[in-house]
Amino acid sequence: MSNLMDLSDSELIIKHLASAPSSFKEILVELASLRQPAELDLLARSSTLGVLNRLPPEIITIILDMLDIQSMFRFSMSSYMGYAYVHSHRKYRDLITVALHPVASLVKLRVVHLHSVRELHGALRSGKCTYCPEYGAFLSLLSSERCCWECLGTNPSLKLISGASIRQYFALSEEELYQLPGLRNMPGISHMVADPNPSDSTFFNVKAAKAIALTKHGSVEKIAEGMRKRCYSTAHLTFGLHLLREPIPPDQDPLLVPDSDYLRYDLFYGGGSIPFPSLSKSGNIDHGFLCLGCRHTRTLLSRSVLPDEELAALVPSNCRKRRVIYGLEMRARARGSFLNHIAHCYGARQMAPWLVTQND
Ligand SMILES: [Zn+2]
Ligand SMILES: [Zn+2]
Repeated sequence: MSNLMDLSDSELIIKHLASAPSSFKEILVELASLRQPAELDLLARSSTLGVLNRLPPEIITIILDMLDIQSMFRFSMSSYMGYAYVHSHRKYRDLITVALHPVASLVKLRVVHLHSVRELHGALRSGKCTYCPEYGAFLSLLSSERCCWECLGTNPSLKLISGASIRQYFALSEEELYQLPGLRNMPGISHMVADPNPSDSTFFNVKAAKAIALTKHGSVEKIAEGMRKRCYSTAHLTFGLHLLREPIPPDQDPLLVPDSDYLRYDLFYGGGSIPFPSLSKSGNIDHGFLCLGCRHTRTLLSRSVLPDEELAALVPSNCRKRRVIYGLEMRARARGSFLNHIAHCYGARQMAPWLVTQND
C-alpha cells in the first residue's frame, strides 16, 4: 500500500505532478472598477443611508447578502456609510479578495445579477461539486452551482441549449422562454461555439427550462410524449430524452457510470461555466490541481503500453477505457485529495518514482 508518509515534500509533488485546471479554459477578464478602492477614514465622516438608517445593522447585512455583487459595489458608492457597510461585509471581502477575476467575468458576461452575494459566497466556501462527491473547479454561470468537469459534460441539469432547442424539446412559448435566465454568446468574451444563427445566440439552462416545462405539462412522461412528436430524428430524440434524466445519485462517481447510461453530447461543453476558486474554513485557497501522472497514464494507454492489470484496476468492465482514463486526466482535485491521489496514481509512480514510494 502506498502511504502519504512515503511522499517527499508536498510542494515538490505539486511542482512536478500538478497543473492548473484553468490551463484548458480561460475567459478571465479584468474589471478595474471592482478592485479594492484605497482605504478611507470613513468612521471620521458623517454620512447617511437615507431611509435605510431606520433599519438595524443586522437587517442591512441580510439585505446586502441578497444583492448581487455589482449592486453591492454600487451601494458602497452611494455614501461613506454605505461604503463602510459593504467593505466590512465578510462575504463581499472574501469574494473580492479570493475570486475577483471570476466575479469580473460574471459582470463582463452580463450574468452577475443572477448570483446573490450569499449564493456566490456559499459556492466559494464549498469546494464540492453540487452533483457528485468530487471537487468542483467550476461555477455554473446561470445557477451559482459549483461543478466538476465530468458533471459539466454529462449532467443534463448543467447543459446549456439554444432557445430553438428549448422550444423543440420542452414546448415552451416565447413568453415562458423569456422567464428563463439566459447567457448571450459574446464572441471574443465567452468561449462558447459561435452560433450560426445570430438571432438565436442566447443559451439557457436545461434545469430551469425543465422546471417550467414540468409546471406546464405536468410530468416528465408528458414532456417525453411531446418530444416524440416534435423531434425529427432519432439523434434529436435521444438527446431530448437525455435532458429529462435525473442527475446521478450524489454519492456516485460520474466517471464510473456504465456506458449504457452514459451520454456526452454537448456543443457548448463547459461554455456555461468559469473556473472558480474555493476558500476553506482555515483560509486555504484552492483552484484544484490536474494530475500530470493521470495524463501520463492516458499517454501510455494511447500507445497501447498500459499494463492490463493497471487498466483493470482503473476502469470497470462496463465502462469504455478511453472515457474513464481521459476523465481521470481532466479531474481537478483540491490540494489534500490531490496529494492522497498521487500516493495511488500509477502514472505518477512511472513519471516520478523518486517522489512516490509504493510499499506493497
Ligand atoms: Zn461532479
Ligand atoms: Zn493521477
